Amino acid sequence: MSKLDEKLETIYNDVLKRNPGETEFHQAVLEVLESLGPVVVKNPQYLERKIIERICEPERQIIFRVPWQDDKGNVHINRGFRVEFNSSLGPYKGGLRFHPSVYLGIIKFLGFEQIFKNSLTGMPIGGGKGGSDFDPKGKSDDEVMRFCQSFMTELYRHIGEHTDVPAGDIGVGGREIGYMFGQYKRITNRWEAGVLTGKGLKWGGSLVRPDATGYGATFFINEALKVRKDSFDGKTCLVSGSGNVAIYTIEKIHQLGGKCIACSDSNGVIVDEKGLDVELIKQLKEVERRRIQDYQTYHKHAKYIASGNIWDIPCQVAMPSATQNEINGKDAMTLVKNGCLAVGEGANMPTTPEGVKVFLDAKIAYGPGKAANAGGVATSALEMQQNAQRDSWTFEDTEVKLEHIMQNIHKLCYETSEEYGAPGNYVLGANIAGFVKVADAMVAHGLV
Ligand code: GLU
Repeated sequence: MSKLDEKLETIYNDVLKRNPGETEFHQAVLEVLESLGPVVVKNPQYLERKIIERICEPERQIIFRVPWQDDKGNVHINRGFRVEFNSSLGPYKGGLRFHPSVYLGIIKFLGFEQIFKNSLTGMPIGGGKGGSDFDPKGKSDDEVMRFCQSFMTELYRHIGEHTDVPAGDIGVGGREIGYMFGQYKRITNRWEAGVLTGKGLKWGGSLVRPDATGYGATFFINEALKVRKDSFDGKTCLVSGSGNVAIYTIEKIHQLGGKCIACSDSNGVIVDEKGLDVELIKQLKEVERRRIQDYQTYHKHAKYIASGNIWDIPCQVAMPSATQNEINGKDAMTLVKNGCLAVGEGANMPTTPEGVKVFLDAKIAYGPGKAANAGGVATSALEMQQNAQRDSWTFEDTEVKLEHIMQNIHKLCYETSEEYGAPGNYVLGANIAGFVKVADAMVAHGLV
């Protein structure tokens, strides 16, 4: 990757100094700044108006205490976050992550990525992110409910359909959104559908929203394969993770003629050479909240590799859909050596900078998260549209809209990469196209 020019280097060093210890945030900022050299040469007003410094500083950061009681009556204290990063293009929009690894640096990396991702969707949404170091794993429904209620008892005063619209991310799905919506409604005395997305279908949710991130990532890679006169048909694929993003990535790959042979969770990897049984994975993970190892109980021919590395398995398409930095430089080299042609990031920043360099040098079709996984938040914006119209669309209509959005994102990234002399470099294309729209809006809004 290109080295930073002097002015961007100064900005980056300042980000390091102002945000000590937030390594994931540093990584996300550096990746964007590495693409912006030619943009600031073309548009010196971005430097004069300190647009990049302003984009790197969240508009507002909220950190709060979340006390709750478990089923035995023991008291627990978690930390809640909401980082309202940038509202140039619309209300802050982005998910909530509940995971023990959550701290300010994770929420800021996610919020920062969200600004550019949301910009790429073409929808009127700004960037934000939130969450907590609460671990939903192994908790009862009642414990999760009490936690969500306590979390929302603080969060409610900062959000609203025109202000900030949270949704799900790792550890936050339909169940958690339901409990949070209920508490928001109770505290505010408002049935305000547009305040959260990822709602249940019977109370303001959108069809395709649960499927959208995985479907969207697959649509994006499908477009990238088309550019190379190729398709998913007959391709052997790997999808890491087994949560919401992974499940619907597997489903769409199968619909497009590919074969997914492995997925994973934090304990291990399941390999099914016949092609994964996605309905079984849905039952295990979405309904029964079990571990992926249990797949073997139902399909004896499948192989479970405890603590295995999914990227060691040869494939043609890899779709990292678990979490940040899950593909390092060595994994990327293994994938390329084994004949991988395309990588589509369903997760946020799943590839380390060393891994990204390997993919770009090998010139494979590499769709970075902020472009490839934008279908989730784009469908959240479609949910907001339906809420505003007090309407609900059919599955088919909504899926077609999602597919068009992903085609447009792909086109925008591809054309931008061509314009800047690196055709097919979606990292450059996504960072520049995402940035320019936000930067121009910030220039138009004056110094705020
Ligand atoms: N958490 C998802 C993301 O990373 C979705 C956010 C949303 O729907 O607001 O984009």
